[in-house]
Amino acid sequence: MMFSDVVGHKDLKKQLITNTLQGRISHTQLFLGAEGSGTLPLALAFARFVQCRDKKETDACGFCPSCLKINKMEHPDLHFFFPNAPNNEHSKNVSSKLFLRQWRELILQQPYFSFLDWLKKMGIENKQAIINAEDCNDIIRILGLKSYESPYKIIVVYMAEKFYYQAAPKLLKVLEEPPEKTLFLLIAENKDQILKTILSRAQILKVPLPGEESVKAELISKQQLDPKRAGTISFLSEGNMHEALRLLKQDEGQMADFHSFREWMRFCFKNQTAGILKWVEQTSRAGRERQKSFLQYGLKLFRLCVLQNYHAHELIRLEGEEATFIKNFSPYVNHKNATEVVDAFHLAINHLERNANPKILFTDLSFQLVRLMRVGAG
Ligand SMILES: [Zn+2]
Repeated sequence: MMFSDVVGHKDLKKQLITNTLQGRISHTQLFLGAEGSGTLPLALAFARFVQCRDKKETDACGFCPSCLKINKMEHPDLHFFFPNAPNNEHSKNVSSKLFLRQWRELILQQPYFSFLDWLKKMGIENKQAIINAEDCNDIIRILGLKSYESPYKIIVVYMAEKFYYQAAPKLLKVLEEPPEKTLFLLIAENKDQILKTILSRAQILKVPLPGEESVKAELISKQQLDPKRAGTISFLSEGNMHEALRLLKQDEGQMADFHSFREWMRFCFKNQTAGILKWVEQTSRAGRERQKSFLQYGLKLFRLCVLQNYHAHELIRLEGEEATFIKNFSPYVNHKNATEVVDAFHLAINHLERNANPKILFTDLSFQLVRLMRVGAG
């Protein structure tokens, strides 16, 4: 994470850079902001800048030994603590250090993740995760060590509101008077849930959502979206980067469903058995939930075809390929077969829920569609 990778927040970046260059770094800083605001990416970019050996005016260099280690999240003077709990792999005496691999993976993949994403990554989404007593011991132990190679030892604490309250007193003294050249970067979403004693020792940096314009620009430059689609997604996300990425993923999933559905319907319409069987083979490999949502999506398209036949165009809010498909396909979905098609899909969804064999199910459904399309076209 460089400052240039952080979405929006021009003024905050400038403030952090100026403070660092002027040697005015306060030793305990709290990055406070909602999910999707970018508190973690901002803290990471700041940590990189502080450690960089060849700082530029607006960002870290990206190439010095320190930056290269941070690229892999493996800097010996950058330490991470975060909420954790026992999972399948580690059943007891857990602490942050046992989950560093997952933590690095998640950050490197996409630093705009949510707390829930992190719990899922550890495989403990239904558990209470905390920063526990063992973590506090580790923090104190690290503070006692000499820093390896950089001027600063940096300790990043993600979701500082999850400090286990009985463990926190140990930390208060070090937060108040950390050893020289130690930097605490705390990250939190809810000010009210942070222990007052911790809050009173930190300099607070409020991080708002990046905003629609910044999110839109990011989607265009980094995700290669066309301006119209980027505009729609950033508007729907209300300027929240995490939400924008979630919507984008959902959107991409839907387009994949569309292309698969269109291919399937073409095979069925032309009664191409080889094509159908190949399609079935592929589709059967997806997870059950994925298959169910695919059939739900198919049902939606069939309903739209019926609406199209009744010239209810104003009810169909589709654009591009989907709209063209509905227009071309709708003549074959009509009063002669629509009810049966819809029933067959509902039944298939029902059977998937009861663990039917997906290969048999999709093969059977395909040949029903072959027959029903002939009925529709006849
Ligand atoms: Zn550097």
